[in-house]
Amino acid sequence: MSKSENNKTALVIGGSISGLLASKALSRHFDRVVLLERDKFPEKPMSRGGVPQGGHLHALMSGGAFVIEEMVPGFFRDLEKNGSMIVDATRDMALHFFNAWQPRDLCGIPYFMQSRAFLDWSIIQRLKKEKNIELRDDCFVSELLTSQDRTRVTGVKLKNRTTEKEEEMSADLVVDAGGRSSRTPIWLEALGYAKPPKEEVKIDICYTSRNFQMDDAPRDWNAMFIYPMPPRTTRMGGLMHQDNGEFIATLAGYFNDQAPEDLDGYLEYAKTLNSPEMYDALKNAEPRGEARVFRLPSARRLRFDKLKRFPAGLICLGAAVCSFNPIWGQGMTSGALQAQALGKCLEQKGLDDDFYRSYFKAQKKICDVPWTLAGAEDFRYAKTEGKRPFGIKILHWYTAQVYELMAQDHEAYTEFIKTIHFLQGPEAFFKPKIFFKVVKWLFSSRKRNLEPKLPPLTPEASQRPLDFSAYKF
Ligand SMILES: Cc1cc2nc3c(=O)[nH]c(=O)nc-3n(C[C@H](O)[C@H](O)[C@H](O)COP(=O)(O)OP(=O)(O)OC[C@H]3O[C@@H](n4cnc5c(N)ncnc54)[C@H](O)[C@@H]3O)c2cc1C
Repeated sequence: MSKSENNKTALVIGGSISGLLASKALSRHFDRVVLLERDKFPEKPMSRGGVPQGGHLHALMSGGAFVIEEMVPGFFRDLEKNGSMIVDATRDMALHFFNAWQPRDLCGIPYFMQSRAFLDWSIIQRLKKEKNIELRDDCFVSELLTSQDRTRVTGVKLKNRTTEKEEEMSADLVVDAGGRSSRTPIWLEALGYAKPPKEEVKIDICYTSRNFQMDDAPRDWNAMFIYPMPPRTTRMGGLMHQDNGEFIATLAGYFNDQAPEDLDGYLEYAKTLNSPEMYDALKNAEPRGEARVFRLPSARRLRFDKLKRFPAGLICLGAAVCSFNPIWGQGMTSGALQAQALGKCLEQKGLDDDFYRSYFKAQKKICDVPWTLAGAEDFRYAKTEGKRPFGIKILHWYTAQVYELMAQDHEAYTEFIKTIHFLQGPEAFFKPKIFFKVVKWLFSSRKRNLEPKLPPLTPEASQRPLDFSAYKF
């Protein structure tokens, strides 16, 4: 479908990462794209009410960054000029995972570090320059408009939150990127359709985040993550450089185990992580601002792809469809990939009455892997509630061998990093070169290199120049 022959309008509900990127993808296929956001967009990068998680550490996986870069060329180099950092994903990010510090050397995969507020704000600034994208903030979408027989969505009803003025807008396609509180399931039911079946993994994760100005102690990392060792421990910590020069610290606990908000309590909690480095890094740092808390009861997926009936002219994407356990950092990348898939489906198929079918099929493929991977890790705890996937015990056993191996094998660790960054599928764990290493590992003395403290970078690794030539950005 080319723009010149259709003269069509698309409406996007929600101006967070999925809605922003969906608007960009749609702008190549529609004459007019109108994005409707209930909040006022801030004039400078800052968190806002509609994205309350924005004040917490947001790790952007490289696969997601590459999608943003493809849609908005030059984006990350611009961010870098304004304080963000582009570092090597295995050398400059220190990861304690499966009870061991992971090997640190260059892998050539770029890791993009900025605050969530700066990321969203920067995309908005780029979209403001697009001639056929209109960003309308401060307006709440309250209803879907439909054809008389309710088989087609024809627009939305919205209300300006300041003036309270109501308005109707027509569209050829409505994209709901309204996040986890999306009203599509309620709207569908009111229109006589079934609600999408829900899959849920109950984890009761609690995030407490604070910003810090670090002290002058030398550091050979720019981000640090200390993961729990399931089923024994349930606490996780992350520390990451932000565009304003501060570091954001996030402490998270499964099963309502919340870190205290006061500084002393916060540091005590950091001390209880599986390795003491985050506490060591923070104990002399200067706190900036107040603590923020976010509680997420469950990871949740709505299976729109399973619905037999659905109105034409409507689709949903992003957290409105799949909201993950945030400790695995998958949400923004999954949203970006779903936005990219929207453009691809329009290109391949055009907008017909069955468009939602092909789109939800493509979306299912994008969500299946991260949903299964994150769930598999969460199900290592007996307390996690939800439907355990078939074969989970075998998967747990095999991935545990890979995780044990990678602490002493940078190549295996790089395969893991590529997988969690959405640069390849988890079948990479079964590639012959990894599989044979695992077998060899199983028949070895299996002596793990369990350094009690983060080992410093070797002079060789620290002096090697960054090389991202394998990736285009
Ligand atoms: C604590 C926490 C930490 C996280 N950390 C990470 C991380 O490290 N890495 C990562 O990739 N992901 C992370 N995530 C997930 C990430 O935040 C989400 O996946 C992402 O924000 C989803 O984007 P979205 O655009 O789909 O929805 P949302 O960000 O939820 O945005 C929905 C938007 O729609 C608007 N809206 C809703 N209803 C209406 C309406 N009726 N009318 C108009 N506007 C409406 C809202 O105001 C909002 O702007 C984290 C999540 C949480 C909770």
